[in-house]
Amino acid sequence: MTVRTRFAPSPTGYLHIGGVRTALFNWLFARRHGGSFILRIDDTDRQRNVSEALQPILDGFRWLGLDWDEGPEVGGPHAPYFQSQRQARHAAAVERLLAGGHAYRDYATTAEIQAEREAAQRDKRRFIYSRRWMAATPAEQQAFEAEGRRAVVRLKMPREGVCAFNDQVRGPVEFDWVLEQDHVVQRADGTCLYHLASAVDDHDFGITHVIRAVEHLSNTPRQVFIARALGYDVPAYAHLPYVAEPGSAEKLSKRKVGRYLQHPDFRKLHEHGAGILAALGAAPPEAECNPLLVEFYRAVGYRPEALLNYLLLLGWSLDDRTEMFTVAEMIERFSLDRVNRSAASFDAPKLLAFEERYMQRLPAADKVAAVVPFLQRRGLLPAAPSEEDLRRVARVVAAAGERIKVAGDIVGYAEFFQPDDGFPYDEKAFRKRIAADGAAARLTRFRAALETVEPYDAEALDGAMHRFVEAEDVPIGRIIHAVRVAVTGKAVGFGLFDGLEILGRDACLARIDRALEALRRSEALEA
Ligand code: GLU
Repeated sequence: MTVRTRFAPSPTGYLHIGGVRTALFNWLFARRHGGSFILRIDDTDRQRNVSEALQPILDGFRWLGLDWDEGPEVGGPHAPYFQSQRQARHAAAVERLLAGGHAYRDYATTAEIQAEREAAQRDKRRFIYSRRWMAATPAEQQAFEAEGRRAVVRLKMPREGVCAFNDQVRGPVEFDWVLEQDHVVQRADGTCLYHLASAVDDHDFGITHVIRAVEHLSNTPRQVFIARALGYDVPAYAHLPYVAEPGSAEKLSKRKVGRYLQHPDFRKLHEHGAGILAALGAAPPEAECNPLLVEFYRAVGYRPEALLNYLLLLGWSLDDRTEMFTVAEMIERFSLDRVNRSAASFDAPKLLAFEERYMQRLPAADKVAAVVPFLQRRGLLPAAPSEEDLRRVARVVAAAGERIKVAGDIVGYAEFFQPDDGFPYDEKAFRKRIAADGAAARLTRFRAALETVEPYDAEALDGAMHRFVEAEDVPIGRIIHAVRVAVTGKAVGFGLFDGLEILGRDACLARIDRALEALRRSEALEA
């Protein structure tokens, strides 16, 4: 048997990380077994522009490297992969269910069914639909139609026995058929309902394993019923535990992001990203500000492989030790029997820790490639950077080291890419370090030392600084912070001497002059 799995998103305009976790498991299972991974688009709810709402989902998959063998944009032997374009197939399946006696046209009104339900409640008995308005024959149908009634199609579900199957994650499960209703599969207007469409499409696409979120577990009996009634092979089912909220067992929900922000770890992850997005300028689209959506991680520059590794462990483990998996290792090791049965909470510090580890391991050239687009978006690098531009990026990235946790953190070093008179000062730091008594005179004298230091590199600069403080007989803090504020505008940053070397002598001298000039101007204003 060739394994075929599918992920079936609705075109919502965003990619939820819980959904990606489901998709990842489907993808890994298919890749593990040399099978195919199919993307099916559940777009029967035609409220929105499908292609617009689908694009972010496809872009997210591409960014993560989760390629699909069949589906939108790539096509495949079972096209179309959009549910909305398969309605004739669904309607034909309904006809077969009717012909086989597995479904019936029901002419009851909602009020009639409600009355039956209430009567059952009054009598304290289980509601079992009477099927009183079932039309099994054309003559019955005609009679109802003549009365002006319109029918839906309902499944004629078994009323005894159990629907039993072996869930690949949860083990054997059983549902009493009597607790199932005669579910509607086709509305009076001829459109089909989701469960019917899903069962038919899974069959048409040759899906062997339906791996999906646990909220669909209770839908499985009716899908099994449909599949059996139509003579299909019933696929294997695997229901994944949901992803839980930070610090609780409740299901994670995109809409509750405001509440999660009260959780300090989650807030930290969000603020870090929001800071980068703010530095990038343009007001970001809503999805990019929500850490429950893949767009957020992409927008602020996470490594896709870090996100995948994190999501892998959010519901699966190899053992209680191994944490880091390359994509090839994930494929090699993945199995459904090691999927957890209970929900795992979204753990922001753990995600960030994965990101940091992946970033640290990234070869220098890849790190540079990762940060360049952020500098370009911020207008700090041209679309086609020169060799020299790239050398500077590489030096800043190397000097910043572990401070660059996500690629977007590079925007925190904008001053290395701005003109000497084009970066702002941290006002508080400027007042404390440059406007302090004696600081300007000291900075002027240090400037003179910078003019002559040879070679102009971090080591020699470090030496020059130490000779300077010895000669001046001041604590090093008195000068080092002033120099930093003058050349970078900031109170903190990576090693000062690395920074001075990267900027080069002329830039450092010009920047010190600018700071001294700014001080003179502010003193003149105050006087
Ligand atoms: N479109 C459905 C969902 O997003 C897919 C359900 C399934 O996988 O069967 O929940």
